[in-house]
Amino acid sequence: MNNNYQNGKLIFGHYDTFENVFPQVREIKVTVTETGRNISSSHPSIYNFRNFREVINCSNLACISGGLKIGNIVREMIENKEIFLEVNDYKCEGHEKQINKICWNFFSYKVEISYK
Ligand SMILES: [Zn+2]
Repeated sequence: MNNNYQNGKLIFGHYDTFENVFPQVREIKVTVTETGRNISSSHPSIYNFRNFREVINCSNLACISGGLKIGNIVREMIENKEIFLEVNDYKCEGHEKQINKICWNFFSYKVEISYK
């Protein structure tokens, strides 16, 4: 994963913080629980202004180009002024390298946004 996604930075064709890109947002909280292979004990993971990232990586070590593209989801929510979204068992979009099997990790996530 590109290092630019770390440290609370987002990329929208440029390199900036969440607060600069979305000044209308007062608070954001994203709660993610992943199930499947290689899950660490630290779930659920909580993301906010400071540690928000474009993509939440899939924990399955064999998974390629998977993960939860939370940046796209949040951008769309903010465009529509939505405040709450809960999705259960969203399947990872990646695949496993060996025989091009699909990845069977799942993300359940909740997004809460408040606006200024
Ligand atoms: Zn995956």
